[in-house]
Amino acid sequence: MAEAFLYDKKIEIDKPPRAKPPKQLAVIDQTGCTGCEACISFCPVDCIEIVPGPVYRDFMKLVEVDLERCIGCQLCARYCPWETIDMWGYEEGLALAPEKTVRSLIYDYDPETMHEAAEARVRPDDASAAPAP
Ligand code: SF4
Ligand code: SF4
Repeated sequence: MAEAFLYDKKIEIDKPPRAKPPKQLAVIDQTGCTGCEACISFCPVDCIEIVPGPVYRDFMKLVEVDLERCIGCQLCARYCPWETIDMWGYEEGLALAPEKTVRSLIYDYDPETMHEAAEARVRPDDASAAPAP
């Protein structure tokens, strides 16, 4: 039976599920993410997804952990060159994830709980964030 989860999913990800919830979860503070994709190459279960940029798909991209597939191995947190991934206890990580998230491809987070400063960084209707015409 599929693991019950706290947040609704916006997309279906066709990758194998984990065996059981881990002791820890990786949570990315997207305010510090440069989209370098280094973490993706270290993840042994391929559970870090690329989030399209808010203004243009290929500009200012971010990444996001699929919290339902993370096995808590810590590799991404160890090797993120910008030190913007932290490991949290499972419950705490789940609770904190929306606040650390600028833009989610995977989960239908309540915008009210998402990080205000982070949202301001890449808000699509913010004219200052868009490249000059
Ligand atoms: S390694 Fe760090 S900065 Fe690079 S994409 Fe992953 S979370 Fe973002
Ligand atoms: S902790 Fe491990 S499994 Fe979880 S996202 Fe990071 S590299 Fe992937």
